[in-house]
Amino acid sequence: MDVKSNLHLSYLQQIRCLCEAEVVEILNGDGWYYECCTTCARAVQKREGQVFCPGCQDTKEKTSHRYRVVARVKDDSETTTFTLFNKEAEQLIGVPLEKILTELDQEGNMEDIPTPIKNMVGKFCAFQIKVTQYNITTGCEEYTVTRVSECSKTPATTSTAEEETHKDKRMKTA
Ligand SMILES: [Zn+2]
Repeated sequence: MDVKSNLHLSYLQQIRCLCEAEVVEILNGDGWYYECCTTCARAVQKREGQVFCPGCQDTKEKTSHRYRVVARVKDDSETTTFTLFNKEAEQLIGVPLEKILTELDQEGNMEDIPTPIKNMVGKFCAFQIKVTQYNITTGCEEYTVTRVSECSKTPATTSTAEEETHKDKRMKTA
């Protein structure tokens, strides 16, 4: 086994970068939370009426839930997709997942995105994201957020104004 080339690869697999962007939409394709193992936090699978954890390689009696919120974000020039897991999601949502699930149980509607999660839309944040080899090789733009902090700065109003001025100029010269 060539240890050196493996080390090189694992180094490449973890590129982190920081970007400031506004949350513009919450996507509900795969849901906004997942059922996980209480021991290792991996997503569990349902098998023949039993709950199986691929991390522990064992069946589980008890599971817990974690946020996995997929958000469309936008900076000055581009739109992309970020996935926020438990800690980072809760930081922006401001409500523990269990509380949302308890309230939803009473209303009985798990399909819609709950209001506290929808409230993430419009927030302007500094995101630290992890760019994986998977992102690079497949061109898949679902980046995982490893750190987040909300910015007070309002999103790019000045640059929009500038754009308008440029457009005016272009129209005049045309
Ligand atoms: Zn496990």
